[in-house]
Amino acid sequence: MSEKQELKPCPFCDSKHINDTELAIKDDEGIIYHYLCVCPDCGLMQVPQDTLEEAIKDWNTRPTEEALQAKLDKAVEALEYIKRIDMYGADIHATDKMLVKMAVHKAKQALKEIGE
Ligand SMILES: [Zn+2]
Repeated sequence: MSEKQELKPCPFCDSKHINDTELAIKDDEGIIYHYLCVCPDCGLMQVPQDTLEEAIKDWNTRPTEEALQAKLDKAVEALEYIKRIDMYGADIHATDKMLVKMAVHKAKQALKEIGE
């Protein structure tokens, strides 16, 4: 049996006290079990899933967060190129102009990729 995956904090209130819970629904055919993650601090409840593994995977999937992280990484990359140019400071006229040109190009490219 694989070790249980850790749950990410609540996307609304950032609480780390997330519970995964079993939900038993009784109908004419018997009891059907569903699984969901719940934040006891703000009451956020996930849409119930068929298995606990699916519930955990769904809870931990954050497309907006991941897209923002990718944008942030690109922005940091752009800033790194700008920082490299800045290292030459006032002496920039004496530096390799190709290097400066390339760094500016890379920074512009990174910013373009994140739509800035
Ligand atoms: Zn919460």
